[in-house]
Amino acid sequence: MQSFDARLSRRAFTAGIGAATTIGSGLFGATNVAAKAPIAGKQLPGAVRMKVGSIEVTALCDGFTRVQEKLFPKSNEARAKELRAAAFLRPGEIPIPVNAFLVNTGDKLVLIDAGNALNYGPTMGHLPAAMKAAGVDPKDVDSVVLTHVHPDHTNGLLTPTGERAFPNAELVIQKREHDFWNDPSKLNGASPVMKRLLDMAIPTFKPYAKQTRMIEGATEVLPGIRSVPLFGHTPGHTGYMVSSGKDTLLVWGDIVHLAAFQLAEPEWSIAYDVSPDAAIATRKRTLDMVTTDRIAVVGAHLPFPGKGHIVKAGSGYQFVPAHFEPSL
Ligand SMILES: [Zn+2]
Repeated sequence: MQSFDARLSRRAFTAGIGAATTIGSGLFGATNVAAKAPIAGKQLPGAVRMKVGSIEVTALCDGFTRVQEKLFPKSNEARAKELRAAAFLRPGEIPIPVNAFLVNTGDKLVLIDAGNALNYGPTMGHLPAAMKAAGVDPKDVDSVVLTHVHPDHTNGLLTPTGERAFPNAELVIQKREHDFWNDPSKLNGASPVMKRLLDMAIPTFKPYAKQTRMIEGATEVLPGIRSVPLFGHTPGHTGYMVSSGKDTLLVWGDIVHLAAFQLAEPEWSIAYDVSPDAAIATRKRTLDMVTTDRIAVVGAHLPFPGKGHIVKAGSGYQFVPAHFEPSL
């Protein structure tokens, strides 16, 4: 018996497509008949729900940013090429998503990270539209909990006119993270990159000053949500373990920026790491923990909606996306 491959070689398959097109043209007449809906040419708001026990988590896509390979100083071209090919990525600037997560504990609406607003152009700043698609009014958010203070996580705290985008929410942040970034004296002698980050960070704290709640280390932030110190990428970079019954989900922030690189090569730090060595150690420890304990994760830069498991693969790790949950 002929194998499937023999019967449907690549060449025959391609030729078959041509034949089908010709038949299609014959049956339906001219090839330029318009579809009954126009090509939309723009993306839909990104909002996907998932369950953690009785808690509902909604992944919200703020959009995407691009990273250049030179941002990974420890990478080498041959290995990068191999990893790019394995992940079907083109060379050059690689798009990565920017995700935030809305946690409804039943008692409280908690937003973990706030997206980038429009400060970096039209590919980001879509979190408000995603939130609207999810049927949530920013006024109803009780807490905005930060993984860390970088623009793609904090710029969305403010409206374009500088007011609180979540007017009734407290702001929850690791104290050491707050103190590191909310320090105007650091502007003197700061590198251009650090100056730009501080210039964006400092004004975002002010409108929330009276509603800011500092946390320290590992603690219960709210019932069902515990902070997990994952310091390194920034001094107070923090994950959050969402738990209900036997279900858990680790919201791990920026443990990886480009999964295709940093899961395979956990030593490849990104240039934005405040402490690269600590970031590498934290990444390795976290990957080991979630693999050993089979903990589901969501990530700010994992492919949207950002949920899955991590498994060992060769000398590194690999992301296994979670299935879409059609009913909750
Ligand atoms: Zn980030």
